[in-house]
Amino acid sequence: MLNIVLFGPPGAGKGTQSEKLIEKYKLKHLSTGDIFRANIKGATELGTLAKSYMDKGQLVPDEVTIRMLESEVNKNPDAKGFIFDGFPRTKAQAEALDVLLKSKSTSITLMLALEVEESELKKRLLLRGKDSGRADDLNPDVIQKRIDVYNSETFPVKDYYTEQAKYKGINGIGEIDEIFNSLCNKIDAVK
Ligand code: AMP
Repeated sequence: MLNIVLFGPPGAGKGTQSEKLIEKYKLKHLSTGDIFRANIKGATELGTLAKSYMDKGQLVPDEVTIRMLESEVNKNPDAKGFIFDGFPRTKAQAEALDVLLKSKSTSITLMLALEVEESELKKRLLLRGKDSGRADDLNPDVIQKRIDVYNSETFPVKDYYTEQAKYKGINGIGEIDEIFNSLCNKIDAVK
């Protein structure tokens, strides 16, 4: 199996690149943010809970997020591999993902990290908010909070994968296809 963690701050381009990668490598895309938003739309209990954190730019608690991710992985027993987009965001999530994949006799192949500086992220998120209408992209305070949470809680997850020699950084600024090619080169080198 090819299991990729697509990593990077909010607005780095994870969603855009995931769409292209799943098409090329025939992987299952699991975006925890998208799954939470679908639950909010469907007015589920999980959606109501997630929204209370998302609206403030905070992380949804690990226990809830991990349980949801596990259930999504279990729903796809025939997947050739996964792209995890927006997960893991904490060390506890990374550890839980390793345990889950090990129980299925597989593991993370690579963590690909899109590197984009903070001022560019803020510009992109505000622009995206105008089109997507995502509440958390429309409010500059919430955007700042998400970037702060990324720096304090999520960025350290990089070390977890560096220790396993799985971390690969990619410049996330430039043409979409150029960035996509850089990602593919990293994947093809380990496939
Ligand atoms: P995203 O679509 O990845 O930008 O995520 C939007 C929001 O969903 C985040 O700001 C968090 O509130 C929540 N979220 C998404 N993924 C996770 C995760 N792995 N752990 C905790 N919260 C998450």
